[in-house]
Amino acid sequence: MRLPFTLLIDPMPADSVQSNFDDTFHEMDSSSPALRVGELSTQRGDGIFETLAVVNGHPQEVEPHISRLRNSARICDLPMPNEEQWRAAIAYAVARVPQRGEIALKFVLSRGVESGPAPTAWLHATAAADFSTVRAQGVRVITLDRGYPRGVAERAPWLLMGAKTLSYAVNMAAIREAHRRGADDTIFLTTDGFVMEGPTSSVVLRSNGTYITPAPSGAILHGTTQQSVFDYLGNQGERVEYRDVTVEELRRADAAWLVSSVRLAVSVVALDDKPFPADQALTEALNAYLLARSA
Ligand code: PLP
Repeated sequence: MRLPFTLLIDPMPADSVQSNFDDTFHEMDSSSPALRVGELSTQRGDGIFETLAVVNGHPQEVEPHISRLRNSARICDLPMPNEEQWRAAIAYAVARVPQRGEIALKFVLSRGVESGPAPTAWLHATAAADFSTVRAQGVRVITLDRGYPRGVAERAPWLLMGAKTLSYAVNMAAIREAHRRGADDTIFLTTDGFVMEGPTSSVVLRSNGTYITPAPSGAILHGTTQQSVFDYLGNQGERVEYRDVTVEELRRADAAWLVSSVRLAVSVVALDDKPFPADQALTEALNAYLLARSA
């Protein structure tokens, strides 16, 4: 039972008939060098990834994460991941990490080594940061122009919008810009004023009693946490909707949240330097539900 935990994986083709994958997993000392210098993931950010939470020994939303990994592979023309192998790798790691507390488990599929024969894959599990304060107190958010109009994913598929690629430099820059402006996080807008997503989260808002998230049209990720939040709200008899949301509607909303796999749900408490109404009681109920998931 140790952290960090690192597993190098020989990725098997999606149509492999192999059913036991243990000989494709190689445990690594997390502080030892593991990747080749020619790795296209490090040289070009050319690869895809997922991060899921493991809470008290339970990996959360494994199937939605694997299915999004497949979608990212399709968008990026990467070899289709072998779902069984990824399920086995996650289970292998989960059995070897502490069974109490919150863990972030990241899994990566890279295009591989330049001119090399095969993609590269690995998994890395670390203790999650302590998000208790931000879950209790919320986040101050700024809106930032993402630089693309609505519909960009359809018009320019080579931008790989909607794939969870390793190229997160822009996302990290947006968070630094938020910090420069005295805020904690960002909500990206299209150039024509539609709400997209956070750099590492989905946006959910409540407007006229309905819970809304921007439709995952191809320009943003379909958040696994947002899907869980909608399951919870739907079971509580609330109305949920996927549709376009303008920034004006966001400004008028009676509550909004950023939701993601490891930080979970955090209330937006300020938007572009103005106080924003928060429903902290619901945030707590959402996080209690999200933390209690056992699959
Ligand atoms: N959008 C982006 C750009 C993200 O990076 C993430 C998570 O990392 C999300 C949305 C939320 O996805 P999930 O709830 O599956 O973590």
